[in-house]
Amino acid sequence: MDDLAIETPRPAAAARAERGDDTEHFDVLIVGAGISGIGGAYHLKVQCPNRSYVVLEAQDAFGGTWHSHRFPGIRSDSDLYTFGYRFKPWVGPPIAVAPEIRRYLGEVIAENDLAPRIRYGHKVRSAVWSSRDNRWTITAEAGLDGRPARFTAGFLWMCQGYFRHEEGYTPDWPGMDSFEGVIAHPENWPEDLDYAGKRVVIIGSGATAATMAPAMAKDAAHVTVLQRSPTYYIPQPNANEFFEQLKPLGLDELLVHDIVRRKVVVDMDEITRRSFEEPEALGQELLAGVEAYVGPEQVAKHFTPTYRPWRQRIALLPDGDMLEAIRAGTVSMVTDHIDRFVPEGILLKSGEILEADIVATATGFNLSVLGDIDFVIDGKPLAFHETVTYRGMMFTGVPNMAWVFGYLRNSWTLRSELIADFVCRMLNHMTERGAKRVEVALRDQDHNMPLGPWIDPENFNAGYLLRGQGKLPQRGDKPEWQHTQDYWREKDDFPAIDLEDEVFRYGVRGRPHATPNP
Ligand SMILES: Cc1cc2nc3c(=O)[nH]c(=O)nc-3n(C[C@H](O)[C@H](O)[C@H](O)COP(=O)(O)OP(=O)(O)OC[C@H]3O[C@@H](n4cnc5c(N)ncnc54)[C@H](O)[C@@H]3O)c2cc1C
Repeated sequence: MDDLAIETPRPAAAARAERGDDTEHFDVLIVGAGISGIGGAYHLKVQCPNRSYVVLEAQDAFGGTWHSHRFPGIRSDSDLYTFGYRFKPWVGPPIAVAPEIRRYLGEVIAENDLAPRIRYGHKVRSAVWSSRDNRWTITAEAGLDGRPARFTAGFLWMCQGYFRHEEGYTPDWPGMDSFEGVIAHPENWPEDLDYAGKRVVIIGSGATAATMAPAMAKDAAHVTVLQRSPTYYIPQPNANEFFEQLKPLGLDELLVHDIVRRKVVVDMDEITRRSFEEPEALGQELLAGVEAYVGPEQVAKHFTPTYRPWRQRIALLPDGDMLEAIRAGTVSMVTDHIDRFVPEGILLKSGEILEADIVATATGFNLSVLGDIDFVIDGKPLAFHETVTYRGMMFTGVPNMAWVFGYLRNSWTLRSELIADFVCRMLNHMTERGAKRVEVALRDQDHNMPLGPWIDPENFNAGYLLRGQGKLPQRGDKPEWQHTQDYWREKDDFPAIDLEDEVFRYGVRGRPHATPNP
């Protein structure tokens, strides 16, 4: 159980179970109590105070990513001024470790009395939409015995994250069974694994590997980071200069938070803009930052990616910790390909053997689309990959549902809050309009637009997205029918969305599009 887990009082449910009537109804059902779901619950409470809602969470505590991941050193890779909510100031250093993030989320739950709305240990298995009733029927497996729990809801708000929490992605290398040491994936890291004095090899060089390496190097005999190809990093002090200047001025914390967030967003947007417009100059600056720690030879060998910056997530290194560890000799980088596992370690294509007691496979996620829930719409299984996304949050042919997929180049939460505002505005609009359902549909002129994969691999090519692309909805050729990954634009576009635009089809009751827009 998490240190901050909050028990949910459920007297009403118990009473209903005794009566043999075990289906509960809520206006809104949120799936997931990670940072998106908790934020969603807060915004619903504040912006739609008359709506009933419940949050169903598969795990035994809140936090999502920050509860399920327990690998050494686990921390954010973006700053908490933007990864935190806009309504709750972050007053610590920009990069935070998981317990600090869980504490922050726990405070949001406590300060806003959200605990009674969250049901832990509820894994949603199916969501069935009926256009006759304009309702979702949701079935979850509840508790340790997995007993079925049934709910109905007017609106489904999917805050289930994007990866399968139970197991990470590990390629199937030959000889793994012959290895005499321990192989562990950061997503299911055995917290009692003792690595003191052990030789550790971490496979991968993304943010997770860059987090684990310096953390494990403090106790391990040695840590080797084995990568196929180099990654971009930004080493920087774990302090925000701007925040440090504003802090002593005695300003309201929320005001300082807002100003620092804006500054971070402007800086991040500048990096993104340059990654497209002047990738070479930006790339050289990033490499120079690394070179200042480890020198030109290491940079040429292990830190010069072949892609332009931001085609994959760039990891921040607080206080340059991984590079400091390389300089100190407790961590070393190897750039090579795995031939096979052998009893004593890993045989590389170059013929070298990396001896290891522990191999950490920081090789990524398995994408979980819609929380691995079976969706059925009016008797027909939902083929999610056949839908077209409306701004990366709603989908053609899927009524009364919003899905949170955050940013890849900015903090996830910036987008989850934009979506929260949109969902709340939409729910209030439906009430005013007397509508029971809303669905997005292509306009006549959009029917012939070219469709493509969810994210253009030229734009962003993370492995889990490429592996899962076929399960994701399609995008059109206009920002409206895409997840643009562009916070700068969406922060203005989302609040300005005209809810009476013809893409929104409202209905009072009955079959789809029963009452088209006037
Ligand atoms: C190590 C690590 C570091 C990261 N650092 C950053 C960072 O610094 N900045 C950033 O922007 N992003 C970061 N990310 C990405 C991160 O996952 C997201 O930003 C964010 O935490 C996602 O929040 P979420 O609430 O949307 O999803 P999650 O944190 O994934 O939470 C989703 C919750 O939904 C629950 N759930 C899923 N399916 C079901 C179901 N069927 N029934 C019931 N419950 C279900 C899950 O159990 C989970 O608790 C990081 C990811 C990892 C793994």
